[in-house]
Amino acid sequence: MLFGYPLSATQNNWLHDCLVETVKKIHAAVDAKKRYPAWPKIVPSKHQGTLTSRIGLRDRLKAYNTAIRKLSKGDRDAVLAAVEAQNRIGDLLSGTCNCTPLDGLPQYVREPVKDLFGFAFDLLTDLKVRDQQYSAIYAATAEHVCPFCGTEYFDAPGAPREALDHYLTKSRYPFAAANLRNLVPMGHKCNSSYKLTSDLLYCADGLTRRVAIDPYSHTTISVVLDDSDPFDGTTAHTPKWAIKFIPDSPALQTWDDVFSIRERYRQSHLDRDFASWLKGFQRWARTAKLQADTDDKLVDALRQYEEYFGASGMQDRAFLKAAVFRMLRRHCELGNQRLKDELRDLVAPLVKTGGTPSAVEVAA
Ligand SMILES: [Zn+2]
Repeated sequence: MLFGYPLSATQNNWLHDCLVETVKKIHAAVDAKKRYPAWPKIVPSKHQGTLTSRIGLRDRLKAYNTAIRKLSKGDRDAVLAAVEAQNRIGDLLSGTCNCTPLDGLPQYVREPVKDLFGFAFDLLTDLKVRDQQYSAIYAATAEHVCPFCGTEYFDAPGAPREALDHYLTKSRYPFAAANLRNLVPMGHKCNSSYKLTSDLLYCADGLTRRVAIDPYSHTTISVVLDDSDPFDGTTAHTPKWAIKFIPDSPALQTWDDVFSIRERYRQSHLDRDFASWLKGFQRWARTAKLQADTDDKLVDALRQYEEYFGASGMQDRAFLKAAVFRMLRRHCELGNQRLKDELRDLVAPLVKTGGTPSAVEVAA
C-alpha cells in the first residue's frame, strides 16, 4: 500500500459499536438466565429510534440469541472472546494478537454470526455510513487513486461506489464485517482480480502467520528502481527491473504477495510503457531545446524530468516515471557509457541528414 487512509474516516462507527454492545448484552442475559428483551430494547437506547424499523436486524439478533443459548458457558465465552479479538484490527495486522476465525467457533453459531454481521454490513449503505466514510477519505487524501496499487483512479463521492473491501475477510472474521476500521475503499482490479478472499493474517498455506499493512495507520511508501539494469530486460533496450519499496518491512511482502504489485508494475507499466516514457523525455528535451551534449547536462536534464514527475504525486503513474528517470540518472552518474551515449542520441536535436536512428530511438 503506497499511502494510508486517515483514521478519522472510521470515527462514525456507530452501527458496528451498537452491534457489538448488543451482542454483549445478549450474552449477559443468557449468562444471567434472563429472558431475551423485546425489540428494540435489546439495542442501546440511543439507537432504538433509528433501528426499530429494521426488522431484518431484529430477526438476526434473535437467531443469534437462540444459537448461543444452545452452547455451554465455556463455548459462549469463546464466542465472546472472538467478538473482541476479531475487531483488534491494528493488533491483528501487526501480529501482536491472534483471534479465533469463524471455523474455530461452535458450528451452531457460525451461520447466525455470518448472517447477522453480513446484514449489518449491508445496512451501512442504507444508513449512509458507507458514503460518509468514503467522502471523508476522499476529502482527506490528496491522491484520488487506489493506494493499494497507485494506478487505479477513484471516482468522486456521488458517482457509482468504489469497491469497499473487507480487509480481514468477512467469511473468516465476520465479527469485523461492519467495522469501518476493517473496511477500505479499493480499486476494482485490486479488489476483484487480486485480493479476492485472501486471508491477510495467514500465508497461502493457511498455517503460517504473517503481518500486513494497517490501511489506517501507514506511512507513505516509495517505489525505488535504482538497482535495475538499464538494459537487457524483456528486450535489449528495456531495463531489467529491480523493484524495491522504501521503507521496507515484512508487511510489504504480504502486500506484494496478495496484490502482485511488483509483477503488475513490471508487466503492465514498466515493460509496456518504458519506450513511450523515453519518447516523452525526448519530446520534452527537444521542445525545451535542452542541450545534453555533456555528461553534466544530460544528468541535469534527467534530474529535471525526474523532479517534475516526483512533484506530480500519483497522477498517471508519475511516481513510477520519477523512479525510472531517477534510475537512469543514477546510472549515468555512475558512468554507464552505453546508456549515456544512447540517451544523448535520443534527445539530440533533430538533424535532417537521413542518418541511421540510434538503438534507443529504434526501441522507442
Ligand atoms: Zn488498485
